[in-house]
Amino acid sequence: PAALYLSIRVAPLAEELILILAEDKTVARRVEETRRDFVANVSHELKTPIGAILLLSEAVEDAADDPEAVRKFAGRMGVESRRLTDLVAQIIDLSRLQADSPLLQAEEIDVDQVLADAVDRCRVDAERRQVSLTVAGTRGCRVLGNTRQLTTAVGNLVENAIIYSDPGARVAVAAHVNAEVDDDYVEITVSDNGIGIAPSEVQRIFERFYRVDYARSRANGGTGLGLSIVKHVAAAHGGDVDVWSQPGQGSTFTLRIPAHLHRGPETTPQTDDH
Ligand code: ADP
Repeated sequence: PAALYLSIRVAPLAEELILILAEDKTVARRVEETRRDFVANVSHELKTPIGAILLLSEAVEDAADDPEAVRKFAGRMGVESRRLTDLVAQIIDLSRLQADSPLLQAEEIDVDQVLADAVDRCRVDAERRQVSLTVAGTRGCRVLGNTRQLTTAVGNLVENAIIYSDPGARVAVAAHVNAEVDDDYVEITVSDNGIGIAPSEVQRIFERFYRVDYARSRANGGTGLGLSIVKHVAAAHGGDVDVWSQPGQGSTFTLRIPAHLHRGPETTPQTDDH
């Protein structure tokens, strides 16, 4: 009977344990693969601008007595150097996000201030591309979290909305508490009437280094890390990010962050058209 008891009670347990261990191993392997892919991608992404800068510096040397050519090559070196700086900053942002929780040093954040700061950072780009920016705030809604990270996340969404739109497009940034659905969350939406994203790509755009249109992304200084940072910031704040998109019509990204404290009536949008 003891042997029978063992086989009835213990065997399924052992089986379960083996399954758990096997699953653990798969998870560990997947984590390791992701890490390896990330390192490979980072090396590739860093090599591209570094290689370009090296070639350009040789070109500058060769063109020493042609001031016009020197100016042109130096300008392109500047573009590639800025690209490198952005890339390194984003990689550091991502690894910091993965290393520590922003809620450890959480502060009370005025959502409207986050929107205003994020939009301010993108004004020069918007003007250059003749894209109009609209901001509608919540007047008083607060969340608990990390101001710098939230501003970066919203800024990344606004930057993309500007980049993946044509001149004359409109980008609308808004925040509100959706009382009908779930008033525990503040929803920050960034909408554009730009090029949109194909349904087959929508799932992948939040992956690190994934770009739908590599040429357009690169030409605009994109790194393929922007949305992955947004996703991490959302998760670190206990929220999430979602997208609705229609190719040729535009996209709306919604960042949901747990709401906190008092909130007031929503403000009407203020436009500053160009
Ligand atoms: P990137 O630096 O290339 O912009 P992101 O991670 O920010 O990287 O975005 C990933 C890809 O998702 C982009 O390369 C682009 O193809 C697509 N994408 C992001 N935002 C938008 C948008 N508002 N409209 C259309 N496509 C977008």
